[in-house]
Amino acid sequence: MASTYRTRFAPSPTGKMHIGHARTALVTWLRARQQGGAIVMRIEDIDHPRVVPGAAESICRDHEWLGLDWDEGPIYQSTRDEAYEQALTELRDAGFVYPCTCSRKEIAEIASAPHDGEGPRYPGTCRNGVTRPDRAAALRFRFDEPSPGFDDLVFGPQPAGGLGGDFVLRRADGTWAYQFAVVVDDADGGITEVIRGADLLSSTPRQIGLYRALGRTVPRFAHVGLVVDPEGRRLSKRHGAAPIETLRDAGVAPEVIIGRLGYSLGMTTSASPKRAVDLLPAFEMPRIPRAAFIWDAKG
Ligand code: GLU
Repeated sequence: MASTYRTRFAPSPTGKMHIGHARTALVTWLRARQQGGAIVMRIEDIDHPRVVPGAAESICRDHEWLGLDWDEGPIYQSTRDEAYEQALTELRDAGFVYPCTCSRKEIAEIASAPHDGEGPRYPGTCRNGVTRPDRAAALRFRFDEPSPGFDDLVFGPQPAGGLGGDFVLRRADGTWAYQFAVVVDDADGGITEVIRGADLLSSTPRQIGLYRALGRTVPRFAHVGLVVDPEGRRLSKRHGAAPIETLRDAGVAPEVIIGRLGYSLGMTTSASPKRAVDLLPAFEMPRIPRAAFIWDAKG
């Protein structure tokens, strides 16, 4: 019987593919191939002002060059407005959506403790009616407490009660929020397992809340530790840090990158050059270390 396992690559075309993305993509590829499942390539291009022309094509090319092929797509989020509208209607009809006219500054002033990476927790000001009818409204999801826990395939059990607060589904300028688009896409795409960077671990309870509200099956989640430079800075936060393209142009072979990444993932005893397919027999999700991996560009 054909496998029902489905996962995805979900790059944001906001810059070049770097080593951190490649490491997560390698895990995704190995897992999917080991399960005999399918990988969907999805380009997360809803945040229009941050999209860099040509980045989606360059990221796809880098995946191919590394030997990380996919089975369906690319699907562009920018073509999926209708699906998001429909899911929004479902949530609205079920009473989960309300308009909010608070500015970021106002929320920061009222909110007590800041929340990591996601900005301050929304205190619920507009839950019972907007405070500034003269402003364009964002749409928020009514996220009741406590936020759900889950069992991460790499990071283990994550207790309930993590990042809470009503969060934005659509911004006041009409842009769909990442949390919402990603859940609608994964649910519509029949994704059974989400594999992505550990920076999104804290977003997962919100996404589970959305799956439940939409009555869709919650996938399994695996978060892969981030890659940092020798000074401990996240590669994604650094402009132009170790792009795959630069390594390729410098004459580095894909096997050299895959070999080092396979070693960093606890799959081999040395960082010698390897193809992704060579790593398949040794791949085991629970062996993946949780700690950040230090990529030293000097090799
Ligand atoms: N587009 C996100 C990124 O490039 C990944 C989102 C996800 O996998 O849920 O970091």
